[in-house]
Amino acid sequence: MRMARWLILLGLVSSLTGMAAAADDIVVQPPHREIAVTFDDLPFVVGYISDWTVLRSRADELIQKIVASHVPAIGFVNEAKLYTQGQLNEQSEAILNDWLDAGLLLGNHTYSHPSLSHVPLEQFEQDVIRGETVTKSLLAARGMQLQYFRHPYLEVGNDATTRMAFEQFLGGRGYTVAPVTINHAEWVFAAAYDRAAQQQNQQAMQRVADAYIPYMEKVFANAEQQSRELFGREIRQVLLLHANSLNAAHFQDLVAMMQRRGYVFISLADALQDKAYASLNTYCGPVGMSWLDQWSSSVGLPIKQDEPVPVFVKGLAGLPAASFGEY
Ligand SMILES: [Zn+2]
Repeated sequence: MRMARWLILLGLVSSLTGMAAAADDIVVQPPHREIAVTFDDLPFVVGYISDWTVLRSRADELIQKIVASHVPAIGFVNEAKLYTQGQLNEQSEAILNDWLDAGLLLGNHTYSHPSLSHVPLEQFEQDVIRGETVTKSLLAARGMQLQYFRHPYLEVGNDATTRMAFEQFLGGRGYTVAPVTINHAEWVFAAAYDRAAQQQNQQAMQRVADAYIPYMEKVFANAEQQSRELFGREIRQVLLLHANSLNAAHFQDLVAMMQRRGYVFISLADALQDKAYASLNTYCGPVGMSWLDQWSSSVGLPIKQDEPVPVFVKGLAGLPAASFGEY
């Protein structure tokens, strides 16, 4: 009896050891995932630099990395940034041409980035129209059309009437709304990175960059989980990024993280083919949020908590520690 028990135990131990050895040999394949990468606030987030020649070289660095990684990205333009004291700034406009020359798409992000939660609808719509001028003509020169619109701050309207009226306005002008499913506080990291750069503090710049990728990976894991909870599967995601110095310097690190998680890069048009994007969406309110949160809210599920930003990043960005949770 005692011997038998011992043998069973021995058998169990050896089979566990065997399993462990086998597990070591198995390379765990990440699931197949798909994502469209989008950049807001083109031609570039100015930060502390006012020289558009410098900004253009940063923008070109970002564009080169996007192309090298075979990411069919789209950039959303705020045309107000094309003007310096009322004059069209050639370097700023050249960035938009650089995007198109690289085979990337452009969309409209309004002229001056107003808040739909705070500005009357008619005034907001005029800002959308004003934001079409240069982008439309640059696209037309290449036989392309201005098709996509991205809401500033992801604000879709304070009430159902505003949301519906604005979407009708967009449809009437031939626009497709460009949703975002992966939303986050990357802009806080970017502000911290710019401040560190302004102070010529290489160590702080590196520290921010080192915290940025793990933060984004947690944001991705949250969105993937929320997608599974909502749809029972992982949908084609749409990532929001900004055209800023942080991403110009570290886009390839983000790409490596996404590829490690099994992502392949697809166009926004391909992402929107996922039937998830036709889901019921009745969200309205002053708070801008991801489409995953909007869909959750529409079916009475809780929205996701913001992934906390490290306190030192918020401090460098000049934000109070209490914003975006504690770390
Ligand atoms: Zn924006």
